Amino acid sequence: MYCPKCKSENTRVLDTRVVENWKLVKRKRECENCFHKFTTFERIEFPKFFVLKSWWKKELYNRDKLENSILMACNKRDIDIDRIEQMIIDLENSWASNKNAISSKRIWKDILSELKKLDEVAYIRYASVYHNFSNKDDFIEFIRES
Ligand SMILES: [Zn+2]
Repeated sequence: MYCPKCKSENTRVLDTRVVENWKLVKRKRECENCFHKFTTFERIEFPKFFVLKSWWKKELYNRDKLENSILMACNKRDIDIDRIEQMIIDLENSWASNKNAISSKRIWKDILSELKKLDEVAYIRYASVYHNFSNKDDFIEFIRES
């Protein structure tokens, strides 16, 4: 990292702060040559891959959308946010390592099986949103089968 003022390569980190659920790292630096202080941002690059919505339609994977849906299912449950984040990262890596586009159904199933290990209520919530249960019996049947 170069000092923006004198272009010296010798800078030191004064402070590191993690923001936006540790998706963004903010660092305060100081140049050891001219003592100029400046801030840098480091952003995590998420894997890029395509999601197959149906056999003719695919779209670029959207991390925000996926994360929001999972966080919604985990709302007010006593689950460590770091564990959720780690779960998403592990899943993304497995999806991205696939040669072909990954189907949205497979994504849904993978999340469900991970959520099941994490928290029963979050699992059922997530299932109910994406399963589109039309009535109580559908729901009960799903619970029985799972
Ligand atoms: Zn400098």
